[in-house]
Amino acid sequence: TVRTRIAPSPTGFLHLGTARTALFSWAYARHHGGEFVLRIEDTDVARSTQESVEQILQAMRWLGLDYDEGPVYQMRRLDRYREVVDQMLAAGTAYRCYCTPQELDEMREAQRARGEKTRYDGRWRPAPGKTLPPVPEGVAPAIRFCNPLDGVVTWDDLVKGPISIANREIDDLIIVRPDGVPTYNFAVVIDDWDMRISHVFRGDEHVNNTPWQINIFNALGAPLPLFGHVPVILGDDGQKLSKRRGAVSVTAYEEAGYLPEAMVNYLARLGWSHGDDELFSRRELVEWFDGQHLSKSPAQWDPAKLSWVNAHYIKQADNERLSRLVVAQLSARGIAAEESELLLRRVALFKDRCATTAELADWLAMYYADVKATEADAAQLTEAARPVLRELAQTLSGLAAWDKAAISQALKQALAAHGLKMPQLAIPLRVAVCGRAQTPSVDAVLELFPKEIVVNRLRNL
Ligand code: GLU
Repeated sequence: TVRTRIAPSPTGFLHLGTARTALFSWAYARHHGGEFVLRIEDTDVARSTQESVEQILQAMRWLGLDYDEGPVYQMRRLDRYREVVDQMLAAGTAYRCYCTPQELDEMREAQRARGEKTRYDGRWRPAPGKTLPPVPEGVAPAIRFCNPLDGVVTWDDLVKGPISIANREIDDLIIVRPDGVPTYNFAVVIDDWDMRISHVFRGDEHVNNTPWQINIFNALGAPLPLFGHVPVILGDDGQKLSKRRGAVSVTAYEEAGYLPEAMVNYLARLGWSHGDDELFSRRELVEWFDGQHLSKSPAQWDPAKLSWVNAHYIKQADNERLSRLVVAQLSARGIAAEESELLLRRVALFKDRCATTAELADWLAMYYADVKATEADAAQLTEAARPVLRELAQTLSGLAAWDKAAISQALKQALAAHGLKMPQLAIPLRVAVCGRAQTPSVDAVLELFPKEIVVNRLRNL
């Protein structure tokens, strides 16, 4: 059976790149009726935090990436790693290295001075007829993998195609640090083996680690998974997407008012394609995602396209759901709004012009608090218009019914009385009540205010 996994390190939020890899792994497993595993790679004890674990879990939940197993924590598997290390030491596929950090520094220094590539020189690697240095006192050893000295490591990458690396390019990797904690390249192999992972999708920053991992799999007699290394995501400046260049966490997009189905759709298209399809559902993604058509070249993060995709899903989203989201957005702005019939109608009126629920909240804020117009908009509220608006306040306050038809009727009366054209009245009216010169049809906007607010805003010009 197909078993895939995502293995984030809990040293921060869920990065967009990791989220995309998770999405590919998840979709691949779901496509094949397989299983998807979440593993938390927390062996970097100093930088791993519980808070980050929770953020990652929350982001996975938000994206709807459900897993069949996990979260599995590496730090709870130390006994298992130790067991394998002992077997490897006994089998001679791993050995103790007593080099101190200073010694390793000197080794590299000397290699650099000779113009060589820096690598571990194998001084503690046992060999027939070789005398090892005397074991120093008080030095905790690291454990190194006995990498094969010759031959070539080859795999057919699911994304990049065939890749080969000569073993003489690779040195003897540390698999357990002197403090007893396994390194990434070792733990990942034991985990992928124990968890029967069949397909490893991950970022291509790991391509250079794969030959070591394949050698360790082979040394253990473990079956190899297939590997697919997904190219990086570039920002619009052509550099790797990074924190300095804007939001890179899934959570930041949730907070900025993106919908999870839009993120899933957009992320899936980043480095993968299905013909010309740009908009597709989660169900279609699962149906189509067979591991083909993954791009070999880096994908470009495109905020404008993401906005377009999100706007599409906002139009489709039902108003109850958008109401809930907009209440949260308003609350983040210090506005206490409640879900109501009226809010549903406000959402319905504005959602078609919003790329995010944050924009929707920006629009709806005027129903709860005075909105300060931009200078350009404020200039449209001319001196000539003010008396007309005050008079209109009077008419509106006397209306028996408060709905679009009645408001529209009152506006027409005012136009006739002052010989004005609709924009000459509607634009200053919008600025006065909404703080904006442009809105949907003004009668439709006004009927969703309590009448007193409209009247007060017009009176207090
Ligand atoms: N913890 C690694 C990372 O976050 C996982 C790499 C892998 O999938 O093997 O990059």
